[in-house]
Amino acid sequence: MLASSEAVFGVPEIFICAVVFVFGAVIGSFLNVVIYRVPNELSLLPGSACPNCKQAIKFYHNIPILGWLMLGGKCSNCKEPIAWRYPAVELLTALVFLLTYFVIGLTAMLPVCLVFVATMIALLFIDAEHMILPNVITYPLFIAAVGVRVIFPLAFEGFRFSDMAFAPVNYLQGYPGWQVSLAGAILGAIAGGGLLWAVGAIWKALRGVEAMGLGDVKMMLGVGAILGWRLTILTIFLGAFTGALAGVVMVLRSKDRDLQTQLPFGIFLGIGSIVALLFGDRLIAWYINTFVP
Ligand SMILES: [Zn+2]
Repeated sequence: MLASSEAVFGVPEIFICAVVFVFGAVIGSFLNVVIYRVPNELSLLPGSACPNCKQAIKFYHNIPILGWLMLGGKCSNCKEPIAWRYPAVELLTALVFLLTYFVIGLTAMLPVCLVFVATMIALLFIDAEHMILPNVITYPLFIAAVGVRVIFPLAFEGFRFSDMAFAPVNYLQGYPGWQVSLAGAILGAIAGGGLLWAVGAIWKALRGVEAMGLGDVKMMLGVGAILGWRLTILTIFLGAFTGALAGVVMVLRSKDRDLQTQLPFGIFLGIGSIVALLFGDRLIAWYINTFVP
């Protein structure tokens, strides 16, 4: 489904790919700032400084990926190592942006999808490091998701989110597109946030321990609203599956580790939601064709 950018802009595809990659790396650099400052309740505005000696980082050392390589992974002033997370997030964001462009193409949904994957990358790294999913990210995610679900069918004639072709959302066929879309968003939010909340409540009742925080529930309200119930259930399935695998690996690798240790589930939900956004409809179609008679 690669959009033919050569036809659109008259520029070679490779050039568009390079622009998307560099743009992704720059956004990744901004996500590093978000990942470091939001959980510590610092302002996003002042320029970058070494966390150790507070020396301001020169603009040419701030170039995504290359800056870290030029510095050899150390602060130029105090020689304190700079975490590999910084170039890793920049490279990861660049690659995920490129993949998103390949899958979604040059369509109106591309900016929405890029914001979505960037938000998921920020959330999963914050959850990995701080075991929290900040409200200042999850609340705007939900509001933006509902906004997109209402605005897109109004702005683009005949625009359909994938859940609108399936039950029960398609029962509303006679209604205006934005209302059908909004109903799909609400159902998706309930499927995401509601399901996670219910699982957490049941787990707490049975085992007497908190299985997951409300952060996961709030995150999945937004993910559910934008993806719709089908891709949201897939997200939770992918998250639970990869999370369980990671949990098994963790337990095997450290035998004395307390089994009650919480895994930051947001990591796996974040990965699952990106996979569901980009490949979910094809994965579900493949599953149904293969396993449902
Ligand atoms: Zn320093």
